[in-house]
Amino acid sequence: MFNIKEIINNQNNYFEKGQTKDLTFRLNKLTVLKKMIAENDEAIMAALKKDLNKAPFESYETEIGILLEEINYVIKNLPRWDKRKKVCTPLINFLSSSHVYSEPYGVALVISPWNYPFQLTISPLIGSIAAGNCTLIKPSEYSVYTSELLEDLIARYFEPGFISVVKGDKDVSQQLLEEKFDYIFFTGSVEVGKIIMKAASKHLTPVTLELGGKSPCIIDETADLDLAAKRIVWGKFLNAGQTCIAPDYLLVQSTIEKALVSKIETYIEQFYGKEPHRNDDYPKIISMNHFQRLLNLLKDQKIIAGGNYDLNSQQIEPTLLGAVSWDSPVMQEEIFGPILPIITFDTIDEVIRSVNNRPKPLALYYFSTNKKRQNKIIEEISFGGGCVNDTIMQVGSSYMPFGGVGESGMGSYHGKASFDTFSHKKSVVHKSNLVDINLRYPPFKNKLKWI
Ligand code: NAD
Repeated sequence: MFNIKEIINNQNNYFEKGQTKDLTFRLNKLTVLKKMIAENDEAIMAALKKDLNKAPFESYETEIGILLEEINYVIKNLPRWDKRKKVCTPLINFLSSSHVYSEPYGVALVISPWNYPFQLTISPLIGSIAAGNCTLIKPSEYSVYTSELLEDLIARYFEPGFISVVKGDKDVSQQLLEEKFDYIFFTGSVEVGKIIMKAASKHLTPVTLELGGKSPCIIDETADLDLAAKRIVWGKFLNAGQTCIAPDYLLVQSTIEKALVSKIETYIEQFYGKEPHRNDDYPKIISMNHFQRLLNLLKDQKIIAGGNYDLNSQQIEPTLLGAVSWDSPVMQEEIFGPILPIITFDTIDEVIRSVNNRPKPLALYYFSTNKKRQNKIIEEISFGGGCVNDTIMQVGSSYMPFGGVGESGMGSYHGKASFDTFSHKKSVVHKSNLVDINLRYPPFKNKLKWI
């Protein structure tokens, strides 16, 4: 049995030795992380298959490949990001220079969820290493095999003082939160995000919260319906809908509802066959609890496609719900599964009003070829990030910050944003001793007239 206090002490001691601040050390550790992933890609895919029945290609596409690319990008750019930045100096600091230094916080706690259990654990770790922190990782108790593998791999490739994994459920998570960390990076639900923030406030620990919520996908009558259907089906049913940025529900202009639904059905069959819930390449629902929760959401709903499931394999077919209103039960919580409700609309102003009446979403997707309306949606709705004429793709870029806003989260990461998130920016004025203007010093009598 592990001793949490001992692990954290060990990490604090490791950090205090100062070696993690050395750029070469950090670049070496990022290279080791890359090696760890590349040498064990088959074991990672096998664990993801056991946890979520992810097809090896899907695991590579959404967990492994994305990480290898991010590490390469960070290794290439870190020497530049790491340099102190010279900035302008106001006249009041005449004969001096001003610089912003990036320094690591110390020991960072990374708490991750089960839906992309490898990617969502390693991705923040890349930023934490790049910035020079030691990291304690608490993966999810639901993705049992991946968490087990993470513990094993991290112990084999890194010293525990630098990176450690502590497995366990919410009780272990709460024990960890009792301790003082220098940074907390949390990915998970809105509800638990609030618990994390409250716990962090006890030690005034800064946090990044990568949360969830209901992400709308809007399709208007000018959209390329065939491409829209194809990209929606891919983005929604990837990982069987258990994706934080999956389109949670569709807002479809009434005039095109029928045509769009028919194309969506065609692509579901083309991608997953006639019986998706028996397809070995189609992911399963993580646990029986979540499986039952999703089946409950189907009760008394108008199922227009899908709806079948397999209790043994815990798979639920891609399912479309029609005649949905904003008050329907399925619209009251994040779905996080392969159920896609469809709400119709007549005008884009109505859509903007409805979405703005709800918590700010993590993602928003808009299918339209009307440029004016595309800009209107982007300008008038606040959301974490998204795509015009696609789904999900905003997450796979190291060039853009990824994160939520309002209830969907705070802070961001990926690429440079990860480095910035895990480092404190220290502003320093280097003053010359050659001149010293007396104006600022007391006594102040009669000095106002000089200003
Ligand atoms: P969760 O919030 O239940 O759990 C996340 C982590 O928090 C786990 O490691 C868990 O052990 C821990 N935890 C659970 N309850 C806790 C408590 N009371 N106190 C302290 N720690 C606790 O989330 P989940 O079910 O693993 O993941 C699904 C949620 O995560 C969805 O809401 C989804 O939208 C969100 N998510 C967001 C992102 C993102 O990047 N924004 C990515 C993936 C998932």
